[in-house]
Amino acid sequence: MDNQKQKLGAQDLLWENRNLWALRPNKSEIMDFCEAYKLALNRGKTERKYIELTLEELRAAGFVELDSLESVKAGDKVYKTVEGKGLFAAVAGTQDARHGLRIVGAHVDSPRLDLKPNPLYEDKEISYFKTHYYGGIKKYQWAAIPLALVGVVYLKDGSKVDLSIGLDPADPVFTISDLLPHLGKDQMERKARETLRGEELNIIVGSMPFAAEEGLKDAYKLQVLHLLNEKYGIVERDLLSAEIEVVPATEARCVGLDRSFVGGYGQDDRVCAYTAIQALLAAKAGEKSFAVFLFDKEEVGSDGVTGAQSERYRFILNDFLHKSLGRNPEIVESQEMIINTELLSSDVTVAFDPVFSDVTEPLNSTYCGKGIGIAKYTGSGGKGGTSDCSAEFTNRITRLFDQAGVAWQMGELGKVDQGGGGTIAKFFANQGMQVLDCGVPTLSMHSCFELCSKVDIFESYKAYLAFFNAE
Ligand code: MN
Ligand code: MN
Repeated sequence: MDNQKQKLGAQDLLWENRNLWALRPNKSEIMDFCEAYKLALNRGKTERKYIELTLEELRAAGFVELDSLESVKAGDKVYKTVEGKGLFAAVAGTQDARHGLRIVGAHVDSPRLDLKPNPLYEDKEISYFKTHYYGGIKKYQWAAIPLALVGVVYLKDGSKVDLSIGLDPADPVFTISDLLPHLGKDQMERKARETLRGEELNIIVGSMPFAAEEGLKDAYKLQVLHLLNEKYGIVERDLLSAEIEVVPATEARCVGLDRSFVGGYGQDDRVCAYTAIQALLAAKAGEKSFAVFLFDKEEVGSDGVTGAQSERYRFILNDFLHKSLGRNPEIVESQEMIINTELLSSDVTVAFDPVFSDVTEPLNSTYCGKGIGIAKYTGSGGKGGTSDCSAEFTNRITRLFDQAGVAWQMGELGKVDQGGGGTIAKFFANQGMQVLDCGVPTLSMHSCFELCSKVDIFESYKAYLAFFNAE
C-alpha cells in the first residue's frame, strides 16, 4: 500500500481543472450545438414560449402525452406540462418506477419586467406601460435598450390572444428612457439599486394622439388601445388579467473573435433546460427511467402552482409510477420511488469574473471553459437554506462524470458572507431524493446579456447524457 502511494506523481496527487478548449479537438460539434441553442434562446424568451418550443421538439421525437396512455412500458417516451409553464418529460426504463428515476431539473423562467395589471397611462403626450420587475435584476440595466412584449391576454369572451411584439425584425420595439448625463447630477448620487427606481421602469409605447378630434381626453392612451384593439381585439379591461412580460428584444450572439461564448438573455436557466432536453432526446432507454423537469417561478422562490415546490410535480411522478406499475401504487411504493430517485438540480452557477475577482474565492470557484460546475451546496451565511449534498452522492456523480470523460469543476457561489443564493435542489432533497446542484458557469448572470462558454454548454449536455445513460 505504502509503495503504491509513493508511485503517484504530482499529476495524480494534485487536483487541477484544465481549460477544455485545448482538450476538445472537435470544435465544430460544439459550435453547431450552440447555434441550435441560440435559436432556442431567441424563440423561448418567456417560460411559456420555452415550454412551447420544447413540446414541439419532444413531439417531433415521438414523445406522447402521459395522460393519453393507460400504462407506460419500457422505451415509452412521455410528457406532461404544468399549466404550460412547467414540464415533465420522461423515457421509461425496463424497471418500474419504484426503482426511482434519474431526473435533471432546470427552470425556464428568467428575471424580467412584468406589466402591472393596470399598466397604461399617458404623461405629457407620451404613452407608457407601468411594470413590476420579476426576480433579481439590476434595474439600471433595463434602461435605454430595445424591449419586446411577450405574453398572453384573455378577452372578455374567454378567448386567448398570444401577444408578441418586438422580436420580429419588422416589429417596433419598446424602451425605458434614461436621463442624459448632462442632467444626471442628482441621479449619479443615487445608490446603484436606485439609479432607476422600480416606479421609473415605465416603457414607452407611443406618442401619437387618437383620431382627429382635438382636445380629446386621454388621446394618447386611447391611440395605444386603438392599435392593440385593431391587431388583437384587446380592450383595457383585458390587460388587468393578462400576463405580459417585458424582455430584451435583442438576439443571442456569439461573443469574442473566437466565438467562444454565447451571449444572450435568459441563459439562466434555459442553458440548462436546453442541454437537459437535448440529453433526454439523445439518451438510450435503459433499466432506469430518466426524465427532465422544467420549472417556472424559480427566480421568485419556486412557489405557486408551476414552481418547483408545487405538489403538481409530485402528482405527475405518482401518475408515472401508477402507469409504470399498471395499478394504483401503495403509499409506501410512492415513497420508495422518491427515495430511489436521483436528481441533478441543473442551474447556472457563478463563473469567476477576473474583473470582479474580489467577490469570489479563487480556489472554490467555477471558471468559464473548464466544464460543468458542481455546487455541493448553495445558500448563504452559515450554509443557511441549502440541502448540502452528501459526500456519497457527490462522489457517485463525479465518478460517473469521470467514467464518461466529462470535465467537471466544483465551486461555491462567491466568498463566504458575500451574499448567496439558492436553487430548486432543496425542495426535492426535502422530499427525500438525492440531489446535487450542477450547471453552466455564467458571467453577467441575471443581466440582459448573460455569457456562457460554449465548451461548458456542450460539456453540460454530455454530463446529463452520462447521467441518463449511467448503469
Ligand atoms: Mn437559475
Ligand atoms: Mn437566477
